[in-house]
Amino acid sequence: MRVLLAEDEPHLCEQVKKLLNAEGRVVDVAHNGMDALHLGETEPYDMIILDIGLPERDGISVLRTWRSSGIKTPVLILTARDGWSERVDGLDAGADDYMTKPFHMPELAARVRAILRRQSGQVNPVIEMGEVILDTRNGRVTLHGIPVDLTAQEIAVLSYLAHNSGRMISRTELSEHIYEYDGDRDSNTIAVFVTRLRKKLGSDLITTIRGRGYMIDTI
Ligand code: CA
Repeated sequence: MRVLLAEDEPHLCEQVKKLLNAEGRVVDVAHNGMDALHLGETEPYDMIILDIGLPERDGISVLRTWRSSGIKTPVLILTARDGWSERVDGLDAGADDYMTKPFHMPELAARVRAILRRQSGQVNPVIEMGEVILDTRNGRVTLHGIPVDLTAQEIAVLSYLAHNSGRMISRTELSEHIYEYDGDRDSNTIAVFVTRLRKKLGSDLITTIRGRGYMIDTI
């Protein structure tokens, strides 16, 4: 799952990115409103974390522009502690949730998980696919109850397919959701990740739809 983080405080950016990376998500960072606007309009994010107080263009105006151009990506806004009117404006502008600064990292992580779950119709933070279980709270995977060691990219592929189970996902779509903006995107390497996942988690977990993509069946 790929997240856009629009935030101008470098230290906070670093902390949030680290937190989300640890759960197997890829994160693009925008440090001002103009970059945020552009990335949100052109890249297919699974969700966006948007600071309201951004330089160059404020978060509310960025959000309004996205919504008026039909971008439905879920957005969590970050607001100042005493910014109740910002929260009202943000929610009315199309935000799905908010966090008040300063916040505790585990709470942000939980809200991100909840939004991503809602987005994909999952109700449980633990996704069961037969004997394979993915815990989205920490990116850990077990097979028959035994922890399996996966690389960050393998977790990213598994997580995207799992969140979208029952739907055929093309290699292009997968590569758009598992690499960062400046990442070295190569849709051919997706086949390599899938092969490794099958070796580690069993050959029948991921179905190949020849010439079109991959799918994990809805359990
Ligand atoms: Ca700010």
